[in-house]
Amino acid sequence: METRTSAQWEKFLNRYYLGDVLALANEYPENRSLHVDFVNIEKFDMDLAEKLLEHPDNILNTAEDALRNFELPIDKTLSNAHLRIINIPQKVKIRDLRSTHISKLIAIEGLVRMATEVRPRIRVAAFECSGCGEVMLVTQSSGKFVEPYICKNEGCGRKGPFKIKLTESEFIDAQKLRVQESPEDLRGGEQPQTLDINIEDDLAGIVSPGDRVIITGILRSYQRITREGKSTFFDIILDTVSIEIQDKEFTEIEITPEEVEEIVKLSKNPKIYEKVVKSIAPSIYGYAEVKEALALQLMSGVAKNLPDGARIRGDVHVLLVGDPGIAKSQLLRYIVKLAPRGIYTSGRSSSAAGLTAAAVRDEFGDGRWTLEAGALVLADQGIAAVDEMDKMRAEDRSAIHEAIEQQTISIAKAGIMATLKSRCSLLGAANPKYGRFDPYEGIAQQIRMAPALLSRFDLIFVLKDEPDIGRDTAIASHILGAHHAGELHAHRLNVPGSDITHKEVEDAMEIVKPEIMPDLLRKYIAYAKKNVYPILEDDARERLIDFYLGLRRQGEDRDSPVPVTARQLEALVRLCEASARIRLGEKITIEDSDRVVRIVESCLRQVAFDTETGMFDADLITTGVSKSQRDKIRVLRSIIRDIEAEHSGMAPKEDVLARAEEQGFEKEYVEEILGRLKTQGELYEPASGYVRLT
Ligand SMILES: [Zn+2]
Repeated sequence: METRTSAQWEKFLNRYYLGDVLALANEYPENRSLHVDFVNIEKFDMDLAEKLLEHPDNILNTAEDALRNFELPIDKTLSNAHLRIINIPQKVKIRDLRSTHISKLIAIEGLVRMATEVRPRIRVAAFECSGCGEVMLVTQSSGKFVEPYICKNEGCGRKGPFKIKLTESEFIDAQKLRVQESPEDLRGGEQPQTLDINIEDDLAGIVSPGDRVIITGILRSYQRITREGKSTFFDIILDTVSIEIQDKEFTEIEITPEEVEEIVKLSKNPKIYEKVVKSIAPSIYGYAEVKEALALQLMSGVAKNLPDGARIRGDVHVLLVGDPGIAKSQLLRYIVKLAPRGIYTSGRSSSAAGLTAAAVRDEFGDGRWTLEAGALVLADQGIAAVDEMDKMRAEDRSAIHEAIEQQTISIAKAGIMATLKSRCSLLGAANPKYGRFDPYEGIAQQIRMAPALLSRFDLIFVLKDEPDIGRDTAIASHILGAHHAGELHAHRLNVPGSDITHKEVEDAMEIVKPEIMPDLLRKYIAYAKKNVYPILEDDARERLIDFYLGLRRQGEDRDSPVPVTARQLEALVRLCEASARIRLGEKITIEDSDRVVRIVESCLRQVAFDTETGMFDADLITTGVSKSQRDKIRVLRSIIRDIEAEHSGMAPKEDVLARAEEQGFEKEYVEEILGRLKTQGELYEPASGYVRLT
């Protein structure tokens, strides 16, 4: 049996891999791996292929022996070569691994979350008997170090002591990985499960955290050891046979020719832009401009590699700042579902790597340093949605800068030197520190984010939960409409003989139904990102330059720092590219630049518009409103607060005016500010002649 399979493998290698074996022989020993496609084994001998899956230890040994003893025309033997099986048809999801998989050859797919340093592992240890000098070789399988029990020299027979001889021992490079499930395999909000992986020899050190891999290997189990001793429970680990690193961008989304046809047809619809925007989180009412921005973010601009080696990111970064209770987190979760590769996390995530990356000690219990990828690395070539960015860790605060501009994360700690890729769009959400957004303080202070980091976002939205009867009515009817649709659906589904018709449910669902179903939209986005590279037309370019110069000019006669930087111009171009991609357009037209100018203007108005001068001032993003105005309003607010305290919560307007005049305010100015505070919902009149801050 054994010899038969050995001869069989020899025949197989000769028939399918002769050229590859000869090529390997030329490069040996630098290259030690022969990759064998499982499909070829199936073609050669179905029975052998099946046995390989069922009893991989024996079969692979025989196969590897056949390779190592292969008769070569040159004077070489491939004595340490490996046969690496790739392309096993069925992949097992990490969460579906069961005891039936133990000792079988399986393939799993996922993201490398952690990788240890590569360190030598002793494979064959040489021991010298101190009594007689006899040298014994003991093969070390993974885990516990095994020493000889008794000297094998019959004339000696002592039970030690034995001295290890390193020069005569055999070492092999070894590494451990922790792989987690791919984001697209997770159903909304599930925590990804992980699997630990053993890697040896030439496979060690070839992958980095953040890489997307298919790993073929033999699943092992080992007994858990608890304080009480050996447990009846076993843990699992995969011994690697082969690693395939996948092209991360487009692997996971398959688009059939029929779907391509549908996508192209859809793109020709004159209302395609509105359709895409309306398909983003339709269950959330309003926020039309935010949804537009998110549609542009999903499409993203074009990344450019310049001749001097520099790279300009195409990814669009968006930040949502706002009061609690508005649908920020819901929007984030929806985008993660739509994005071809999306990862949702919180700024205060519990993992050591947080948003960027970390070097941690002893993660696998063997004292080695491990490099762990954080969310921005795991989301490489996708979207990272980070909630509660105001709560991110200090380490992330310093590292995130490089991560979102250079789109790499560098780690240099304890002998680990690595640069991980983080080419992702960042969709951040942050809560102001006082709970509600204070228009009289800079955003930077309110969400504890460095001004330089803030300036890296292409678009910043401030979402305020302001009472507005028209809007509130619309939201209320939208929410109740959505609930009503859900009730009808549940009734029809669960109540026997329900008199609610299919049509009634369909009609009610209309208000929450996306114009383009999420599955198709995801494919639409993937198709656009892969195939569409729009080019700026002359009039569109002029429009952008005019807008940009206009903003710059506004800062000219003021002594404040330059209001708008060239970075904003780059953002404009990115957003225009994304806008053209929405209709799969090859050209960026004036409509694209008009649209982008409108969105950017409205963002600037929220975060960088000086109402006193009527000018944009990007400096306001970082410092709040112009200093003089802010100080005045501060003083006024504290006057009101003081008087409120003196009059059990209601401040007589007369008193406010009088005390403000004492402090040098003109009466008209105070009236004006009170009026503005009122329209902004920060002040109201609980009774005629009285004011109160909200
Ligand atoms: Zn001895």
